[in-house]
Amino acid sequence: MTRQRLVIGNWKMNGSLEQNRQLLEQLVAQQDEFLAQSHVVVCVPHPYLAQTHDALQNSGLQWGAQNLCSQQNGAFTGEVSAAMLQDFGCQWVLVGHSERRTLYGETDLDVLLKTKAALDAGLTPVVCVGETAKEHAEGLTEAIVLQQLQSILKLENEQLKRLVIAYEPVWAIGTGKSATPEQAQEIHAYIRDLLAQHQAGSVPLLYGGSVNATNAQALFAMPDIDGALVGGASLNAVDFLSIAAA
Ligand code: PEP
Repeated sequence: MTRQRLVIGNWKMNGSLEQNRQLLEQLVAQQDEFLAQSHVVVCVPHPYLAQTHDALQNSGLQWGAQNLCSQQNGAFTGEVSAAMLQDFGCQWVLVGHSERRTLYGETDLDVLLKTKAALDAGLTPVVCVGETAKEHAEGLTEAIVLQQLQSILKLENEQLKRLVIAYEPVWAIGTGKSATPEQAQEIHAYIRDLLAQHQAGSVPLLYGGSVNATNAQALFAMPDIDGALVGGASLNAVDFLSIAAA
């Protein structure tokens, strides 16, 4: 079965109405150059979902959010539900990004509950996993990834098949120091094998961590890397387009 090729931009807490307008316009204007290669998604800050919806609704690009609440509605000040994201045309949502885990204390249980909330609403969760530099140095990469995925792997098979997983070594995020294609492939193959044991081997696996226009092609040439989750480089149309075209 052919796996989906996917490039997802994570704008993080960046942008303004004017900056976004320019970036989205450039992406739409040049979409024909990269949409033949892969699906392209931008995950924008919540306040800009309406703007993104309006700019991309008639394009081939898709959009999503960077976080959601595990609850459906109620007294959860400051939170945003899956249904609210859908009101603005989102089909995608990042879950468990390492910045959420480390800066906001999200646990593996939170990640599971958010993943379920997204799936129940019909959104595609992009579940992020990856080890820190210390864990990497201690040879714990597989153990950490397994721990982060353990409860997710217990989802019903029909739900598991609807996920995307992003392997993002924490030491590579925003550092300019990407994993080598071989390093990334090794862990992707490990994750692929875990998923295959649950009849979900065709789930798209993305690599994230300092992907740029220069290193994307070599990463994408690896057999188990189906695309990328791109932070910094997704803020520049030329860089993001080159990655998507790779
Ligand atoms: C990310 O935020 O998911 C990410 C991979 O960032 P960067 O590409 O900047 O390393």
